[in-house]
Amino acid sequence: MLRDSLGRPLRDLRLSLTDRCNLRCSFCMPPEKEFKFLPRQELLSFEEMEMVVQALAELGVKKVRLTGGEPLLRRHIENLIEKLSSVEGIEDIALTTNGFRLKEKAKALKESGLKRITVSVQSLKDEVYSKIVGRNASVSELIEGIEAAIEAGLSPVKVNTTVVKGLNDEEVVDIAKFFKKMGVIVRFIEYMDVGTLTDWDISKVVSGREIIERIGVQMPLEPIPPKDGSEVSKRFRYLDDGLEVGIITSITQPFCRGCSRLRLSADGKLYTCLFAQEGFDIKEMLRKGADRETLKEAIKNLWKSRKDRYSEERFSKRAEGSKKVEMFRVGG
Ligand code: SAM
Ligand code: SF4
Ligand code: SF4
Repeated sequence: MLRDSLGRPLRDLRLSLTDRCNLRCSFCMPPEKEFKFLPRQELLSFEEMEMVVQALAELGVKKVRLTGGEPLLRRHIENLIEKLSSVEGIEDIALTTNGFRLKEKAKALKESGLKRITVSVQSLKDEVYSKIVGRNASVSELIEGIEAAIEAGLSPVKVNTTVVKGLNDEEVVDIAKFFKKMGVIVRFIEYMDVGTLTDWDISKVVSGREIIERIGVQMPLEPIPPKDGSEVSKRFRYLDDGLEVGIITSITQPFCRGCSRLRLSADGKLYTCLFAQEGFDIKEMLRKGADRETLKEAIKNLWKSRKDRYSEERFSKRAEGSKKVEMFRVGG
């Protein structure tokens, strides 16, 4: 098995389909900042993505999560899912979306081979939600998208909520309650210092532990033992119905030691960490006609030399003022 310099295997891929988005979340792509999106010719084609995934599958990757930017903005995404579903070795294809095109797309996504879906819901109140996502939006539209995904048979459907102090942290118990009733697993994510455009500050982070304690007071919980060392979410279950709820504690309890994830940006760069400064340009290799063995060799070398553990070194790295790739580019 291919392992990096810290002994971590390569198991999963985050594949960013586009850097564009129909929202402007304050913790990702703040509306007051200017963005230059990638020109179309810079984006990897579906065929090129498939070639990279084939190479990765032969190196041990089993799971692919489609993300972005907003992946449902990429036209004919179903064709890509179909292609990836038939790559030998790929056992699981999932997608993370802001949910705005889900109602119309859920059935086609399922039919093309998508297994699981995660929808980001930052608030249940239109006013708060609109403030977070930088445009007037109705939460009920989102919920209809989630219902459509459940009805289409995508399973499990999960919800991600990024928690920011003073923005939506007062809502964590209400969000947990709401989705508990729907039977949907929620994962609360600590606000991370990804990219360079946000106003991240440690004082805006609510720890996962605090989130779980607040929920547990009203709806008692117990921890679930991790399935394996690469699990990102710390899982709990409600004592009454056994439904899961999770926290992703990149800030307060980093999980770099189990990180088996590679990222491919929409413009064809491989990143070995969400907080990386630079990516490896595999698009250039593809467009010069590299075959699968050559791609595999390059990826092997990249992974073998990997030593990223940004979240464990966060505070010393931040002090160095390091430049980082934006989350909507590298794929959240
Ligand atoms: N556009 C899709 C969405 O919002 O679900 C997929 C891409 S988005 C970058 C993936 C996830 O990253 C979302 O659940 C979002 O809430 C989360 N996210 C974005 N910026 C974040 C930050 N600074 N800290 C923690 N989570 C963040
Ligand atoms: Fe778009 Fe997702 Fe980033 Fe929000 S978090 S701006 S929905 S890519
Ligand atoms: Fe993985 Fe980098 Fe996150 Fe650590 S900081 S868990 S190495 S992506």
